[in-house]
Parts: sequence; C-alpha cells; structure tokens
Amino acid sequence: MTKYIFVAGGVMSGIGKGVALASIGRILKSKGFKVAAIKIDPYVNVDAGTMNPIEHGEIFVTNDGTECDQDIGNYERFLDENLTTDNYITTGRVYQAVINRERNLGYKGRCVEVVPDIPNEVLDRIDKAALSRVNTFQNQDKKNGLAADFVLIEIGGTVGEYQNMLFLEAARIIKTKKPKKVLFALVGYLPILETTGEMKTKPIQHAVRTLNEAGIQPDIILGRSRIPLDEPRKRKISCFCNVDIKDIISAPDVETIYEIPINFEKENLSKRILRKFNLKSKKPDLQDWQKLIKTVKTVNLVKSQQGTRGTQRKQTSNVVKIGIVGKYFETGKFVLKDSYISVIEAIKHAAWFHKRKPEICWLSAEYYEKNLKKLRELKEYDGVIVPGGFGSRGKEGKIKAIEFCRKRKIPFLGLCLGMQMAVVEFARNVCGLKEADSVEFFPGCKHPVIDVMPEQKALLREKKYGGTMRLGAYNCKISDKTISFRAYGCSEVSERHRHRYELNNEFRSDLEANGLTMAGINPEKNLVEIIELKTHPFFVGVQFHPEYKSRPLRPHPLFREFIKSILNSKRI
Ligand code: GLN
Repeated sequence: MTKYIFVAGGVMSGIGKGVALASIGRILKSKGFKVAAIKIDPYVNVDAGTMNPIEHGEIFVTNDGTECDQDIGNYERFLDENLTTDNYITTGRVYQAVINRERNLGYKGRCVEVVPDIPNEVLDRIDKAALSRVNTFQNQDKKNGLAADFVLIEIGGTVGEYQNMLFLEAARIIKTKKPKKVLFALVGYLPILETTGEMKTKPIQHAVRTLNEAGIQPDIILGRSRIPLDEPRKRKISCFCNVDIKDIISAPDVETIYEIPINFEKENLSKRILRKFNLKSKKPDLQDWQKLIKTVKTVNLVKSQQGTRGTQRKQTSNVVKIGIVGKYFETGKFVLKDSYISVIEAIKHAAWFHKRKPEICWLSAEYYEKNLKKLRELKEYDGVIVPGGFGSRGKEGKIKAIEFCRKRKIPFLGLCLGMQMAVVEFARNVCGLKEADSVEFFPGCKHPVIDVMPEQKALLREKKYGGTMRLGAYNCKISDKTISFRAYGCSEVSERHRHRYELNNEFRSDLEANGLTMAGINPEKNLVEIIELKTHPFFVGVQFHPEYKSRPLRPHPLFREFIKSILNSKRI
C-alpha cells in the first residue's frame, strides 16, 4: 500500500525543500522501495513554460515534453529516473481540470466547490502519480504491486501563504482519512545571529504553529542551517513543536547537494521514516552515492589556480574552468544561478567523472556585445558553453564569443540557442552570408539560416504560446566518425527539446560545403540536431538540451566528451 510523505517549507523559501525531498527519495530508493515524487507549485500558470527564467529559475523539460519546475530536475537526478507530467501539479492545472470536468457535466449537476473539489482533484492527481510508477520503474515486480511504495509530495512555497492553503488542505484531508499512511515533514530554517552568534529556533516554532493552524502536525522537522543543529537546539524544537527529538533532523549547508542523502542517513532519517510506517528496510545501499561524494571531496581539496590563464595552466591542475556565456543571471545586484541549473549540474557530473574540479564562471553576453575587446578574456577558460535562451538580448555577444572559440580552438558546446547562434556565426563568417540570422530575431532577414517550422508559424499567429514548442524527447541519428558518435557510442539517441526554431534545410548544403558537419539528424522530420566542426578539438552545437538527462552517477556523454577534450587539448 502506498505511503504518502508530504514536505512543506517554513520560515522562508529557497532553503532546499526540493533537494530535501529528492534526498529522502534517494535514500528510500536505495533501501529497495519504489518511490514517486511530485512537485506542487502554487502558481496559477498551467506549467512553467511561459515564465521568464529570471522570475522562475530554469524551466526543466521531461521526456514527455512537460515544461516544469527545476525541482523535477532534482528529483530526476537524485532518483535517476525519468518523470512525467503526472509528477507536476500547479494551481492552474488543478483548476483547469476541475473547470473542464464541470463543463462536461462530470460533477453530474451538483454545485462544484473550492473545498472539497479542489483538494480532491489534488489527491486524485497524487494517486495517479503513485500509480504511474508503472511507466518509469525499471524492475516491475508484479507481486509487490506496481504502484509506488512511497509517494513524496513537495508543497511549494512556505506555510502560512494564502497560495498553498488548498494543497495543505489536501494533505490534511488525506492524513485524517489514512492516518497511518501519511507522514508530514517540515523543512525550516534556523538563522544564526551575527551579533550574538546564536542559532535561533523561534522561526521554526512559528512555522510549526502556522502549520498547526492548517490542522497539520509535522512528524519530522528538517532543520536547515549554516552549521549542524546541536543538542540544545534540537531539545528546544522538540519541546515547543511536539516532535520527538530523534525526528529533528539536522540539515546543515553542504559542499555539494549530493551529500544530503548521506547526511540524512547519519541522522537516521530513513530508520525514523520506516519505523513510523512499521516497515523494514529491503536493502541498505548508498554505496555508489558515497563513492561519488568521496570523489567530489577529493577533487575539491585542490585549490583553484585563480587568475591563471588556461594556456599557462600546468597539466597537473585539477580544475576545469568553464565559462557560460548567457544572460539569465543578473537581477539587480544579485547573480542567479538557478536559470541554468541543469547545465551547471551536467558540467559538475562530467568533471567529477574525470576526477576534476569544475569551476564555473558567468559571462554576460551583453557585456561582450558592448566590450568587444573583452572577448580576449575567453582565453582564460578551458571550455565555453553557450546555453539555451529566448529573445534577442545579448545574441550578438554570443555570436562574437562563439566566433572567438571557433577561431582560437577553445572547446565549445552550444545548447539549443547556443547551437543556433553557432550556425549564424558560421554562415556569416565562413560562408560569407553576411546577413545570416535567426527568424526569431530578424523575421525578414536575407539569409534565414535558422527558421521557424510551418506548424509553429500558425501557433505564433494565433498567440498559442503555452506548451506548443517542439517539446520533449525526439530521436536523433548520429553519423559515424563524429565527436558525437564517439561520445554516445551508438548511432541513435533520444534527447529532449524545447524550441520553436530549427536549422533551415535550404542552407544545409552551403553550410556543409564550407565545412560544417551535420552530425545528428532527426530521421522523422529530417531536422538537423547536431552540428560539429572537424577542424576543431571540440566544437559541438546541439538543437536539444542534453543537460536535462545528465545524472550524477551517469554524466551525459556529450558533457563527458566536452571535458575529455579539454583534458586532451594542449591548452591545459
Ligand atoms: N529561442 C530558440 C528557439 O525557440 C532557442 C530556444 C532554447 O534555447 N531553448 O528555437
């Protein structure tokens, strides 16, 4: 019988609820249980696809083409499984379904009410996700049933917000109906006052009270803080929040988020969870994970050689310095890393695979646009990535950066828009098509080397923007004797997409004649998916997003090869 674990946040957002849930999932999976993970986002958007990454952080895409929250990416990375649209709930999705059902007389003429119809729809969706494990669980075991043993549900936002009340209400209802099958975990923050140096428990106490007002008593408290919680803090929280001291779990800041499952286990978290459900562990196994953490800690011991130019760095250096030329990281005076989280994680996975410490730097495409001379700084990087993006801001800076990497033989990986800009750069500067551009930025341009598909044109005309891009997994045939073939080791792969524009086949022969290799093609629609340069140590552009499929224990082949090319190149 499926057990439900709800995870909610108190005190403030951004303290790692998603990673906490993913870590619980990892531990339970390692113990032999089937786990389903759900993210509930309280916003009214049907999905995350229409949101700006600066506003929302990265938009993650699943195999089935759902544009969702970056936490789904964390769940996939920690659980090492592909999730689906069933694992993602938003207020928009819930209301849309209820209203559609009402319009179809699905409620048989009765009055449809916010309570209980909205929480009931939420609960139906949770059960559906628990059952849909049948699609994703690799070793289906008929005897044990196909539904997940555990369904983990993250309620977005923090307790006390108006927005997530109906989701808390759903959790309360199910806990009342199935008290022995539901567990509630609260992730809260303990600030340390600079003036006194003391760790304060009061914000957590308040968060628990607020949760109590919603009719929910937490069973477990995950105490996030800069350093581990000590005994007096735990005792205090236990006393004021009515939670057994053994269920107050210390969750300090970590060197790498992948350490969290191990830290949770040091605090006996899985034992406590299984005890509450009267379950026994099937197999204790976090070995692979422990090995990974050991690697990370070992490579991190090496100090980065800051300021050393790539060309001068000694072979013995353990650091690979990667520059990301993008635009979604500046907000006021702060730098956001959330917008490119899957790219960052994919770089880390690949660097760790090669026993190297990744050093990732943010390079503003707009800055290069205005300061062309500064492009020279790119020589300091062992490799450069131009990630995905939308809109024309900074695109000329990206094109200039790509030109620099091409000419100076700096390993380059272009992701989606990064690939498109590499094609524009090649068309302009190698093929001599001076007015080459993407139709996204210059609709009437003379050489539309990146064009919009006819079906996309119609959607844009009708302003049907939400969920209508080329989304999710598509096949790609890889030509042999290419970098991509060497990386993947096979001739057919499936990768995830999120874009409207494509390399224009009308320019294909011209580009090829000038030396651009079409290394990957979608066989169904004859679309170019990968471009490469033969005369360069690593110059690869992909129309898809390989970063979505990289996992800590299974780095993505293209990222792995990218780092390998850096290690092989004479520059390091
Ligand atoms: N804006 C481009 C397109 O829609 C690229 C999108 C992306 O990088 N994800 O085709």
